[in-house]
Amino acid sequence: MPNIRTVTPEELERQREIMAEFAEQNAARPSAPLALVDTYGCQQNEADSETIRGQLREMGWDFTDREEEADLIILNTCAVRGHAELRVLGNVGALSHTKRAKPDQRIALCGCMVQQPHMREKLKASYPYVDLVFGTHELWRLPELLMRLYAPHKGRIYEARDIDGERVEGLPVLRGTGVRAWLPIMYGCNNFCSYCIVPYVRGRERSREPQAVLREAGELISKGYKEIYLLGQNVNSYGKDLGSGTDFSDLLREISGIEGDFVLRFMTSHPKDASEKLFDTMAACEKVERHIHLPFQAGNDRVLKAMNRGYTAEAYRRKVEYARSLMPDIAVTSDVIVGFPGETDEEFGDTLSLVRDLRFDMLFTFLYSPRVGTPAASLPDPCGKGEKQARFDRLLALQEGISLETQAAHVGKVYRILVDGKGDKPGRLTARSIHNRLIHLEGPESIIGTFQEARITGSTTWSLSAEPQKGAWENG
Ligand code: SAM
Ligand code: SF4
Repeated sequence: MPNIRTVTPEELERQREIMAEFAEQNAARPSAPLALVDTYGCQQNEADSETIRGQLREMGWDFTDREEEADLIILNTCAVRGHAELRVLGNVGALSHTKRAKPDQRIALCGCMVQQPHMREKLKASYPYVDLVFGTHELWRLPELLMRLYAPHKGRIYEARDIDGERVEGLPVLRGTGVRAWLPIMYGCNNFCSYCIVPYVRGRERSREPQAVLREAGELISKGYKEIYLLGQNVNSYGKDLGSGTDFSDLLREISGIEGDFVLRFMTSHPKDASEKLFDTMAACEKVERHIHLPFQAGNDRVLKAMNRGYTAEAYRRKVEYARSLMPDIAVTSDVIVGFPGETDEEFGDTLSLVRDLRFDMLFTFLYSPRVGTPAASLPDPCGKGEKQARFDRLLALQEGISLETQAAHVGKVYRILVDGKGDKPGRLTARSIHNRLIHLEGPESIIGTFQEARITGSTTWSLSAEPQKGAWENG
């Protein structure tokens, strides 16, 4: 049984008191101190950074995106692949110059990368100008850690408890203005896929109480957010640890019942837990996206077993077929790992077949990256880098061909789209359909945050373009 406790009201009150002390001190300064929070990795990290910003705002910090003027820099790091870690280390290296020019600047690292003991050792040994390092379970203690950081005669602070996790509610969150709101519904992961570092750095699954999620969703919708994105490493196992009888499908149904015009999205779904009830619920709730991100990782059963994924390729195919039988227009996207240790060319061929047969709308392809401490990292891996890269390129070429065709099939169709932001050039905007397809259009910024009727006029591998169905966009 995982050992998960709830952070007590007294502990939270203590953090609030420290926040109030900071706020008073900072208000007395001629100008507010500036913080920069830089996020790497997944949406969960984006959501954590919003909590960090919420705490900092409450303590009287303002924000900047310029390193040279920041009084406090926090890098919220990722450990899923080696590449992400190298990027963080490269950027921390560059900060030595910024800090030399501004010696009272404080540099902090948090998130998945620093939850790993070997990474903390590396930082201690090679990056002496990093002042504060805190792991994934310490987020709610940020005020206390900052108090120690800003105390006289402080040394470097390293805090990362190796625990299963804690339940905590009620932390301040500062979300970006806009259309989309991240809403974590659970934390951690119990699956221990043999290649993955996440369960080691994020602890065991902890679902938030349905009432807390519903309350927050309601607040977000009444504040005008139009896209509510439910987050969890495996949303389909939501609620299992609560024992209250509410599962993910129930939660989806309840949130989609909230009054208001919005789209409900979610990620990530694990195929072993994606039930018929989930697809039935999606089909029945019109505010729920017609899209599922369902990572299959490999198309071969021996590899899937070695990955500890808990399903076969055939079972995966049946789930996708069931979803499509209920919702013929559903977009299905997926993740796949190329070059898992011991994967043969023939086994990789099964991945190609699955991709060819299921025709995903979009595929996120990753080269296997060994992660310290995971079972897969100690498996024999005779296949060379060049061979793995060649497989990766074949898969990419196959998917690009499929995406070109599936995208082109939308031209001429009319969709209700949500305009969600500015595009890459003046006058250009971006939008998403209920299928989470990226759409480019031209129009005034005043329509950002509105739903529109759009006719698809063009397509590329990754995006569609659209015009107003009725000749002009409706007023924003
Ligand atoms: N929990 C989600 C799931 O199960 O699909 C996503 C977790 S992970 C952050 C996102 C993706 O990264 C995974 O779906 C997998 O394809 C990829 N990934 C995880 N560990 C990896 C590794 N060691 N090497 C390469 N890709 C990896
Ligand atoms: Fe990693 Fe597997 Fe958990 Fe996803 S389900 S976070 S891939 S261990």
